[in-house]
Amino acid sequence: MGGLDRAPHTSRRSGRPGKPGALLYVTPRVSALSSSSTILETKALTVRFGGLAALSNVSLSVARGEIRGVIGPNGAGKSTFFNCLTGVLRPTSGRIVFNGEDIAGLPPHTISRKAIARSYQITNLLPGATVLENVRIASQSRRHNWSMLRHHRAYRDVIDRARAVLADVGLAGKEDELASNLSHGEQRNLEIGIALATEPKLLCLDEPTAGMSVAETHSTVDLIRRIARDLTILIVEHDMEVVMGLAQTITVLNYGEVLAEGRPAEIQANPRVQEVYLKT
Ligand code: ADP
Ligand code: MG
Repeated sequence: MGGLDRAPHTSRRSGRPGKPGALLYVTPRVSALSSSSTILETKALTVRFGGLAALSNVSLSVARGEIRGVIGPNGAGKSTFFNCLTGVLRPTSGRIVFNGEDIAGLPPHTISRKAIARSYQITNLLPGATVLENVRIASQSRRHNWSMLRHHRAYRDVIDRARAVLADVGLAGKEDELASNLSHGEQRNLEIGIALATEPKLLCLDEPTAGMSVAETHSTVDLIRRIARDLTILIVEHDMEVVMGLAQTITVLNYGEVLAEGRPAEIQANPRVQEVYLKT
């Protein structure tokens, strides 16, 4: 794979920048243009931090059910892109149309209810809570409108759902462990479980295999393939073998701009992409 064997590693920054100064409020509205095969479309998405454009006119379209890889060197804007999609960050300008609705600038809890979830680049678990509790809390956040604490059956449903999610991510039998006692790989998979418990239609994975052993990486790749049957997935990943093997389409960001987009083989063969990776 030449220069694309393995990209340089990121510093493990939190990927949760503060809000930019100049904010442009975008009123959510239904787009007549979005077709049902497109789940997500960004249009000229731009984020500026002072003089720096962390994202610049990023326009892309993701098909329902696709696994889309997002790659690019350190500082290319990948985490900023996820932060916009999940409401952690308000874009300076541009649109994010999800299921036909402009969600740019909506707060994270509203976006979560619209069925976009994310796993963080840095683990986001409650280390002192059990594995089951971690997933239950996420699952409950999705259903809190049902006043479920007052309804024993609804509560049991949440527990059942949490157990099913844990089985999906390979953590059956670990329900009563403290999250902090899990191995690194198990914690990362638990994080995917927490995201799944919110019942997303779009799942954003920020470096899901970072820091994993080869065996853990393989099992996480299998896990992502499995859950992708029911979901659309965006995956930021530095391990080229992982992302090239998983994604149908890859978008390459560089200095906040889309440098290239295409099938994995096209991206690997793209001289501009190779140049960017060889330089860093
Ligand atoms: P990636 O995830 O691709 O490594 P990021 O999206 O984290 O890149 O960052 C893109 C650019 O935006 C980088 O130059 C980074 O330093 C800058 N950046 C990110 N967050 C902030 C912030 N809160 N304030 C200022 N600059 C930021
Ligand atoms: Mg990042």
